[in-house]
Amino acid sequence: MNTAKNVPELFGSMVFNETVMRERLPKDVYKKLKQTMREGTAIDAEVAPVVATAMKDWALSKGATHYTHWFQPLTGITAEKHDSFISPTDDGGVVMEFSGKELIRGEPDASSFPSGGLRATFEARGYTAWDPTSYAFVKDGTLYIPTAFCSYTGEILDKKTPLLRSMDALSTQACRVLKLFGKDVKRVTTTVGPEQEYFLIDKADYAKRKDLIFTGRTLFGAMPPKGQEMEDHYFGSIRPRVAAFMQELDEELWKLGIFAKTKHNEVAPCQHEMAPVFTTTNIATDHNQLTMEVMRRVAERHGFVCLLNEKPFEGVNGSGKHNNWSISTDTGENLLEPGKAPSGNLQFLLFLTAVIKAVDEYQDLLRISVASAGNDHRLGANEAPPAIISMFIGDELQAILDAVEAGRDYTDMAKTKMDLGVSALPDIQKDTTDRNRTSPFAFTGNKFEFRMLGSSLNIACPNIMLNTAVAEELRQFADELDGAADFQAALTALLRREIKAHKRIIFNGNGYDESWVAEAEKRGLLNLKSTDAALPHYTDEKNIRLFETHGVYTKLEMESREEAVIEEYYKTLHIEALTMRDMARREILPACLSFERTVADGALAKKQLGLAGGAETRLLTQVSALNDALERAVSTLEEAVEAAPKADAETLAHYYHDEVIPCMDAVRKPADALERMVGKEYWPFPTYADILFYT
Ligand code: ADP
Ligand code: MG
Repeated sequence: MNTAKNVPELFGSMVFNETVMRERLPKDVYKKLKQTMREGTAIDAEVAPVVATAMKDWALSKGATHYTHWFQPLTGITAEKHDSFISPTDDGGVVMEFSGKELIRGEPDASSFPSGGLRATFEARGYTAWDPTSYAFVKDGTLYIPTAFCSYTGEILDKKTPLLRSMDALSTQACRVLKLFGKDVKRVTTTVGPEQEYFLIDKADYAKRKDLIFTGRTLFGAMPPKGQEMEDHYFGSIRPRVAAFMQELDEELWKLGIFAKTKHNEVAPCQHEMAPVFTTTNIATDHNQLTMEVMRRVAERHGFVCLLNEKPFEGVNGSGKHNNWSISTDTGENLLEPGKAPSGNLQFLLFLTAVIKAVDEYQDLLRISVASAGNDHRLGANEAPPAIISMFIGDELQAILDAVEAGRDYTDMAKTKMDLGVSALPDIQKDTTDRNRTSPFAFTGNKFEFRMLGSSLNIACPNIMLNTAVAEELRQFADELDGAADFQAALTALLRREIKAHKRIIFNGNGYDESWVAEAEKRGLLNLKSTDAALPHYTDEKNIRLFETHGVYTKLEMESREEAVIEEYYKTLHIEALTMRDMARREILPACLSFERTVADGALAKKQLGLAGGAETRLLTQVSALNDALERAVSTLEEAVEAAPKADAETLAHYYHDEVIPCMDAVRKPADALERMVGKEYWPFPTYADILFYT
């Protein structure tokens, strides 16, 4: 089909959006709903039934038969339980019904969702509540209603609720600050554009690998002769099969109102990226969750499997997600826009300083927000930012901050034109800051790009931390400046003091460089290398205070979240360990022993014939030694898993990190060496060369 013509028509065609609402809702209902969406006010009891009926009628016209309260539990992508609209009539038939009550509240039997101990099974009731700030949509014959998820006793059990609360907190404090600058703003929102990386591999290869099936990543695999060193995949031309996938992905996303914008090949072979146009954080979060799901579905239809694991293959880049984040007013002003003369833009400098202070004081939370077993393989490897949090602000802003700190005047740099030396090409204006690709948290013109996120992460997590931490700094600033006799003087003094206190978090150099680790340590920055090391800091006193102050989480909710993430961590490692054992014992060893026997038979036969069997003997010696090493390593791994203590989650997490991971590495080593040595037809599953370099 000729999509070029149809995009505007296609876009949002499956979404219960503004246009549909205006068309289908009575004027007063529409107005009330809009107010809720804009200002976060509670939904009116009379509004719900009217919206429910309109939503149902619209959904039926799109072919829907079911509805679902769609929510984001503590782990996993998204959860849904489908109910049909049917309601029996007296004459044995059915009508399609959907009440206001069903729209507003659902009660999934959700006792099995992780809650970090918040719900005992006997009180396992969980409720979902409609989030009117995110549009409902129809997908695969079902009306999806974005909802929040909480327990019978009111504790929140999802990621959406705290995200909405953190956005409220930031809005409240940012509006206070803006008032000091004489601006009457009703609502400030954070915006996010998440760039999503992924791998596409052939379904047939995937089906033959138990590690991919059970864990989403390969646990074995020798590097093929060629990896990503030629850099011929990055931005390279896209395989026709992949291009067909990307086109359908765009169409599916557009239908759901997702602003899919950019697509290209990434650094690793078979790796790609999709970036949407940014939008409000909660919608960006819903959209990113949907994007990941749609990617998987569309991949299936093209004979691919979409891998969203953070590190599917050793030796080539893993996949991340860049969280581009900014703050805007409802009047459309981007508060992180430096403007033409940033040094005189005190409002910008104040917001910038708030972010700097927030990132410094809550480094631990930002690190924790991206922690997972899979992402541990990326952070600190030479492909992703290190596990140390630092910020890049570029030369120009650095010079301005230096001047503020020293109390010096600063003359803004004029933007220079770049001369490309070809008269036919237009002059392009050079940005005053270059890009830094190695910083975990980089200022990129009028937004920050947080780059530590793993590809499968729900972006709610880092944004909750970021919004709340920045809200806290803005609160402190507003408290201090409110009622100051001389606003200018107080503001300048505040900026000087805070820049001085938090400049240690700014690092404009190469984050991949080894010397940075030592330098960061000297500066007193945290280096939380693994998930089990990072997570326990979540419930540090200062962090509980932060979230309680802004009404984002209670202490109990934080404790339960910490527990849920720690559990997920060691359970992931447990599954990986058992998968490795199975593959090694039941697939790799039998194959290698069979190869060994063939070689031994050959050696024996030659000997009987009186021929020299040099090649066979040498090969046999090596293969036999490796088989021996592999069998021993598997036994040791088995013992380590069995010896796991019956202890609390944190102890177990440390145990899996310290004891089990080294045993897994020890199994992989001889297995990968054997892969290079054993005949191809013996090898029990597709290798990296087969998977990454298919034609
Ligand atoms: P790159 O980082 O690859 O150079 P861009 O700077 O064009 O690419 O944008 C990357 C992402 O940042 C896109 O998803 C874009 O929509 C998003 N983005 C741009 N401006 C903002 C903003 N004000 N708030 C949040 N995200 C933004
Ligand atoms: Mg980017």
